[in-house]
Amino acid sequence: MTDRVYLWRKTKFSMKVLDGKGLAATIKEELKQEVDTIRLAAGKIPHLAAVLVGEDPASQVYVRNKVRSCERIGFRSTLIRRPAEMTQTELMEIVAELNEDSDVDGFIVQLPLPDHLDEDAVNLAIDPRKDVDGFTPVNIGMMTLGLPSYLPATPNGIMTMLERYGIPTSGKEVVVLGRSNIVGKPISILLGRKGDPGNATVTMCHSRTADLAFHTRRADILIAAIGIPEMVTADMVKDGAVIIDVGINRVADSTKERGYRLCGDVNYADLENKVAAMTPVPGGVGPMTVVSLLMNTLEASKKR
Ligand code: NAD
Repeated sequence: MTDRVYLWRKTKFSMKVLDGKGLAATIKEELKQEVDTIRLAAGKIPHLAAVLVGEDPASQVYVRNKVRSCERIGFRSTLIRRPAEMTQTELMEIVAELNEDSDVDGFIVQLPLPDHLDEDAVNLAIDPRKDVDGFTPVNIGMMTLGLPSYLPATPNGIMTMLERYGIPTSGKEVVVLGRSNIVGKPISILLGRKGDPGNATVTMCHSRTADLAFHTRRADILIAAIGIPEMVTADMVKDGAVIIDVGINRVADSTKERGYRLCGDVNYADLENKVAAMTPVPGGVGPMTVVSLLMNTLEASKKR
């Protein structure tokens, strides 16, 4: 019996954990084998560069994970660190150099940037052919038109997860919480496109949505990307739904040595006896985001 059939037969008390960490490890192993083959054939090893500005703790963790993942699968990686006080001109120069550097296949500028730096200007300056984060207007436009492009990392990770776990999306009611350019908006577009995964009927909710629970209760698949700890509770979700929790929130927890714990936008404990499948936080969407970046970098390298 395939996962696809199995998932939708889940009863109330046997939720399937959508293990992004495990799936990401499997895909990284596949990528590593591909890189090994490229190396044996004396081909070009994929090279990802990352620009990190300032000391934001979460950004440092994210970038470190990306660079480490590159190293583990045999990619080359370059980390460019600059202090928070750097100027817009200096940052634009780095982007221009990376655009020109024939050795670099793809690069990312880790967001958020310090307030005095203009994220839009940086995004507009990135060569779409090296935009492995899939954030530039060309790639977003191509994605919207259903043309080949680099897909934004987190939505691409969610799509890969839905595909690999065999979760049907065609004709399903998908409700997305959040309309950010990096998660909510692109995943809404991707799941509404023709394709598999895709062909869903998508509702995109946001901070001005009247009666959020009315929408969430209709969802066969609920994707939460809002950044409010454990906001989605059992009364907002229908039995047997599939929950994709994108949120990564730090909440104070004196029982932990570091003084906080990570949680999602969904109250996991509240929902686990009610839904068919759900991503944990951490270990759900986060690792899939990193894998998407690696997949895009490999693709960029092959194209070059
Ligand atoms: P954001 O922070 O840019 O915006 C939040 C969105 O939530 C907005 O569109 C807003 O309209 C909506 N929102 C706010 N309050 C709401 C409410 N009460 N009801 C409905 N919608 C509401 O969003 P983002 O950058 O997509 O980040 C969202 C969360 O996802 C954060 O916790 C972030 O850390 C996390 N995130 C995780 C990953 C990952 O790899 N797992 C990647 C990106 C972001």
